[in-house]
Amino acid sequence: MINHNELFSNIGLNLKATYTQLPEILFSKLMPISVKDPKTVVLNNELSSELGIDFSDLSSKDLSNFLSGNRIPSGIGPFAQAYAGHQFGNFTILGDGRALTIGEQSTPKGEIYDIQFKGSGRTPYSRGGDGRAALGPMLREYLMSEAMFYLNIPTTRSLAVVETGEKVLRETPLKGAILTRVAASHVRFGTFQFLAAHKDIDAMSKLLDYCIKRHFPEILDSPNKVIKFIELVMSKQINLIVNWMRVGFIHGVMNTDNSTICGETIDYGPCAFMDQYDHKAVFSSIDFQGRYAYGNQPATIHWNLVRLTESLLPLIDKDESKSLEVAQSTIDSFSNIFNKEWQNMMRLKLGLTDQSEEDEELIKDLLSWMQSKKPDFTNTFANLMDSNHANDEEFEDNDFVEWKKNWKERVNNKDYLNIMKKTNPILIPRNSLVEEALNEAETIGKLDKFNELNKVIASPYNIEKAPKKYLDTPKKSNIPYKTFCGT
Ligand code: AMP
Ligand code: MG
Repeated sequence: MINHNELFSNIGLNLKATYTQLPEILFSKLMPISVKDPKTVVLNNELSSELGIDFSDLSSKDLSNFLSGNRIPSGIGPFAQAYAGHQFGNFTILGDGRALTIGEQSTPKGEIYDIQFKGSGRTPYSRGGDGRAALGPMLREYLMSEAMFYLNIPTTRSLAVVETGEKVLRETPLKGAILTRVAASHVRFGTFQFLAAHKDIDAMSKLLDYCIKRHFPEILDSPNKVIKFIELVMSKQINLIVNWMRVGFIHGVMNTDNSTICGETIDYGPCAFMDQYDHKAVFSSIDFQGRYAYGNQPATIHWNLVRLTESLLPLIDKDESKSLEVAQSTIDSFSNIFNKEWQNMMRLKLGLTDQSEEDEELIKDLLSWMQSKKPDFTNTFANLMDSNHANDEEFEDNDFVEWKKNWKERVNNKDYLNIMKKTNPILIPRNSLVEEALNEAETIGKLDKFNELNKVIASPYNIEKAPKKYLDTPKKSNIPYKTFCGT
């Protein structure tokens, strides 16, 4: 009889757990809690081959047993991570309450990725939760994270979803599921906050070196590596949020435990892409104050970066006032860097590669017109690229026609359309289509719509590959779209 580890090494799994070399306060080793009757619902073959894993020789039973955590390679020691976080501004000690990292996979290209199960059972950090996840939210995370990847935005990715064959109790009993998530690492701003709260400076210093080795090896020997680290995390996060703004993405729950050191989008809960433009767009049913609204995302990431920096102060200098002074000037550089990156992104959305003094005005005028008329965000830019593509009535508006004339005069490079095509997706996972697909999967177990959506979101910039129904502006609804955390 073949032993499990042999089975797993044959398929290319080479998991390590370097994280568990860190001080024990940072994790708990434990096994996933087995589930009754796992069935693989979706498997991402493209991602598995990037990871150097080939599942094709596994029977469907072995595959589902693996992806549910019922049977995983022994000796590595899966672990749940401890962390803390400001949730809607309130500091809380948290941790992986329903997730387990089964190890770090080294890819054929030599990159290292955490492989993690989400929904794999209770952990020491579960607080009141059941450690489980429901099928709908896990399929949603799968779809949204893959959409993000194909939009060229840093993100955790999704390898698979399995149904567990067990029910999870939410408002009603729902089908249970486990998502296999892949991340450059799962270290969060809140992981540093956790150590700061415990005043464990030695562990923090070790975690910092760990993150630097994994994500920013170029600064390992730098004399002021803490500040360099903050600068690099800031730069990754600015790039991330600017990209979210580019495609109209609203994360929905930008708590500090949902901001990663590696700069990937993580924890797809109540997120959504906006249809109609609104700077104040909020979809999350629990975001009553609009704290994480579309237009608040830049200020929020700044706030989160301040929390990360505060935690790291003891590592900057033994003299607290010196630490504060250096850290302050790093944090103060945020606005300039962000605004520059954001302006550049907006310029590219308009096909502009050079800079001109009037650009700021041009961009501002467009956005204030959009704020007043609330046209479809994606299709406003699609209309600029091809006025026949999206001819919603808003685009007949005199102010827009006038603006467009000014813009056309300003565009002076021959290549502008190619630049715009690379910057402006013409296809995003539309809220109504996502809901339809998830509803079908949850209620009657059919995956046709999910699979189709999953396929089309892989070509968000390619009009030739986009079926027309995915390009139309969705009909306006009187009922505001609401999203839920799905915990
Ligand atoms: P999230 O909103 O998904 O970022 O989760 C916030 C925190 O709640 C994290 O520490 C999660 O691990 C935890 N959590 C979410 N759902 C559950 C659940 N069903 N059982 C246990 N912990 C959970
Ligand atoms: Mg989270």
